[in-house]
This record gives sequence, structure tokens and C-alpha cells, in this order.
Amino acid sequence: MSASLLSDHTGAWLGLLALSLLLTIVMLGMYFRELRRSLVLAVELERVSKQLSAQLARDKVTGLLTRPGFDAILDQWVQKVDGSGGALCVLYVSLDNFFMLNDAFGHEFGDGLLKDVSSRLAAFTCADTEVCSLAAGEFALIVKGEMVVGRAAADRVSDVFAGRFAFDLIQTPLTCSIGIAMYPAHGSRAMLLGHAALAMRSVRLNGGGDFCQYDLKMGADVREQAILVNDLRSALELGQLELYFQPKIDAISLKVTAAEALLRWHHPERGLVSPVVFIPLAERYGLIGAIGNWVIEEACRKAARWRERGLHMRVAVNISGYQMREDDLVDRIEAALLRNNIKPGRFTCEITESVAMEDTKVTQLTFDRMREAGFHVSIDDFGTGYSSLASLRRLPAAELKIDRAFVTDLEQSEDARSIARSIINMATALNLRVVAEGVETVGQCEWLVSMGCNELQGYLFSMPITADELERLALDEHHLKNVEFQESLFSETRTAALDGDFHPLPNNF
Ligand code: C2E
Ligand code: MG
Ligand code: MG
Repeated sequence: MSASLLSDHTGAWLGLLALSLLLTIVMLGMYFRELRRSLVLAVELERVSKQLSAQLARDKVTGLLTRPGFDAILDQWVQKVDGSGGALCVLYVSLDNFFMLNDAFGHEFGDGLLKDVSSRLAAFTCADTEVCSLAAGEFALIVKGEMVVGRAAADRVSDVFAGRFAFDLIQTPLTCSIGIAMYPAHGSRAMLLGHAALAMRSVRLNGGGDFCQYDLKMGADVREQAILVNDLRSALELGQLELYFQPKIDAISLKVTAAEALLRWHHPERGLVSPVVFIPLAERYGLIGAIGNWVIEEACRKAARWRERGLHMRVAVNISGYQMREDDLVDRIEAALLRNNIKPGRFTCEITESVAMEDTKVTQLTFDRMREAGFHVSIDDFGTGYSSLASLRRLPAAELKIDRAFVTDLEQSEDARSIARSIINMATALNLRVVAEGVETVGQCEWLVSMGCNELQGYLFSMPITADELERLALDEHHLKNVEFQESLFSETRTAALDGDFHPLPNNF
């Protein structure tokens, strides 16, 4: 009996155990089902709230995404690519001359321009494309698809800028630089916009108005540039900058009329760095002001020293576009001339054609002030821009320098000859002197002289040399190749160049 009682008890216990196990399983099932449901709900909630915040993060006037909206949409689209494959492109669009126009024509004009550009770009928004305003003059597009789709979008964006933009009676051409980075091929989500910006900067470095896709070596280039800029910041203080000088020669008398100051950077590790490399960097990173001031002062100091030793010639300094927009440039040159007792007509400002033809009020104002101050103004690298006779007449220029590219090709190319011929004719019609730069061969020299070119500059006569070398060449009675250097420097030679301008020959220079 006791055995049957025991088995009854055991059966009851086992039954109870089975029941509670079943209950636990059911409860667990319910719990997990609830958990899953709430997880799904949370994901859905996050998606909806992101969508909502993206919608809220749109500029009310233009309809463009703001930065938070851009980040939210980019996250969603990246998740989709991660989940179901495919690709997307981010385009970084930057207006090339926006800040210059904004400074020149005022902020109201700048705001109007931005509104116009924004509404044109907003028209790209569709199921596969989103447009965002990142900052003044900077936009980003996200486009679903591979690089071909990204490039096609960049093409369409460039087309938006093909015409002129008009605001408040001012009409202006506007270009943009576009960089494209693709996900996942060009790196993680976090790096996407940065890589597109790097590609955009590389377009800008090459003159802007174009687009290009991100390339792995771009990061290295930018790092290299950052190191160089850092070194450039201390180059002045450490005395690593030096002016070299290259003479300009009168084509008839073959006598020296002037010396052009050409900046050199003695880098402790890289050796001599070309101004073609570091002047654009100095402009971009706000260092050109201090460097430009030093060049002006140093050129005047050297000219004063030459004068003390009886050498008579103009000194020419290259003035960058940034310097032309500084409102006290002319004051600073005048002060340097005064300190070194040099007449304004003995100081040449070389301004490239592209900068000279910038139709901004500020640049024009500087030209007017240069005219009043009596500086000798030269238009450098002439022939590469789009100057008209009318625009040239407005400038206080006394000299045009034919761009080296045409001089180099003179003996091989009929095109180069006809351009050089037209420049000489144009200059003659406007009573300007013509200087040919980069003259390397006797053939080029002879052709230029036969066409009536007034002055020559180039390796045929002299490479750019240090101020001391220039002085020594004169004082040690050495002669420059092909040039009667000695006589022209020591006597008050009334060469056509020095007589021909509107300033009388000074007593002290
Ligand atoms: P640029 O003013 O047009 O100067 C002419 C350039 O051609 C100089 O290059 C000169 O060394 C070079 N050159 C002269 N003759 C010949 C020749 O016969 N053959 C060849 N192949 N080249 C010749 P560099 O010194 O490298 O200067 C390049 C540019 O850098 C200058 O062009 C100028 O725009 C800019 N630059 C130089 N110094 C300064 C400066 O102090 N300030 C500013 N803002 N720009 C400067
Ligand atoms: Mg020059
Ligand atoms: Mg030049």
C-alpha cells in the first residue's frame, strides 16, 4: 500500500511539474513575442521619428535639407545599401567665387544669389536624390546609385551654373566645384562627406568649375599640403624667404630697364620651393598679406641699395588677386617707397590678366588708387584671359607681358605667332609697352623684335638671380649673356622704356 501511495504522490508531483513547465513555456513564449513586438515597434518608431526629424530639418523657404536632416537621410540610405546592396554617391558642391562676390557686392546680393542657387538645386529633390545646404555657398547632394549616376548628377548641377546669375541689376557668371564620393567603395559612412569635400578641393586647386571623384591619394595630398602650410607660417620669421630678380631688357638697345622680383622659399628639408606651389597656398590660408608686405618692403630695400651704388632700373613686384582686394595695399606700397626714397614711377606692379579683368568694385578701386599714386602697372601673363580693348583701356596699365606659353611656341606654332602679333598690335593701339616673358632662343628674340615687341625677359638673357648676384654682375664688370648690362645700369640711360612712360626721369632714381 505504501508503495502505491508513493507512486500516486510521485505521479501528482510529476503532473504538477509538467503543468508548471508548460505554464513557464507559455509565459516565456508570450514574453518573447511581446519583446519582439516591442523591438519591431521601437525600430519602426525610430524610422518614423528620423523621417519626421528629416522633414522638420528642411529649410522652410528653399525646401533643402539642413545638416541634421542630411545626416538622418544619409544614415537611412546607407542602412538600405548595407541591407540590400547597391551604392550611393555624395556630391559636395561649392560655389567658386561666392565669397568674392559677397564681399564685392554686399551681403544682400550674396543672400539673393544663395536663394536663387538653392531653389535651382532644390528642383533635384526626388525619391533618389536629396539636396542639403551645408553652409553659405556649400551644398551636398545624396544620390542613390553607382558613380555613373553620381557623375551624371554632377553634370546636371554644373548645367545649373552655365548661365549668368542676376540679382538687383548685377549680372555675374557663377561656377562651382564638385567632389563625388561613393558608398561603400570610398570608405565608411563617417568619412563620406569629408572625402567628397577633399575631391571638391582638388577641383578647386585646378582652377574650379569642374567635378571629380574621390581618389585614395587625395587624403595624402591634403596632409602633405597641411604640413607645407604649417612650415610656411614660420618661413618669414625664420628668414627662409628670399627675392630673386630677373632683368627686363629693352629690345632695341638691349639695356636693362627693370628687374622683376620673384619669390623663393628655402625650405630646410625640401630645398628651393617654387612660388607656383606656395603662393596659391599662402593665398588660400591667409598668409599672402604678410608675405606680400615683406616682398614689397624687401624689393624697395634692394632697389634703394642698387640706387646707392649707381644702378638705375625699375623694380617689379607681382601682386596677387588677394592683395588687390586689400583696401590698404596702395598705402602700404607708398609707405615702403617713401621709407626707401623711391619714386612711384620706378615701382612696377605686375598683376595677372585674370585678376586685372575681375569686374569687382574693390579691384577697380585699387587700380584707380594705383593710377593716382603714379605706379607703373603691368598686366602679366597676357593672352590667356578674355580681355577686350575696352576693358584694357579702363586700366591704368603701361605695359602688357605676353604669356610665356605663346613665346615658347613661337617657332613651332602659327597660332602662337598670331596671338603674339595681335597682342603687340593691341598694345601699340593703346600706347602700351609690350614685354615678352620666357624668351629662351635667338629665333624667338628675333621674331619678337621684328614684330615691334619693346622688352624681353627670359633665360636667353638671365635666369632669376639673387640681388647680390645681380649687383655683382654689374659691379664686377661681368656681362649678362647678350646684354650690355654694365652701361645701361651705370649711366642714366634714357632707354625708350624709361623715357616712354608718363613719369619724368627722377634725380634720385
Ligand atoms: P610670373 O610673374 O609670370 O613670372 C615668370 C615666371 O617664369 C618665373 O617663374 C620665372 O622664373 C619664369 N621664367 C622666366 N624666364 C623664363 C624662361 O626663359 N623660361 C622658363 N621656362 N621660365 C622662365 P617663377 O619664379 O617660378 O614664378 C612663377 C610665378 O609665381 C610668377 O609668374 C608669379 O605669378 C608668381 N610669383 C613669383 N613671386 C611672387 C611674389 O612675390 N608674389 C606673388 N603674388 N606672386 C609671385
Ligand atoms: Mg610677373
Ligand atoms: Mg608672367
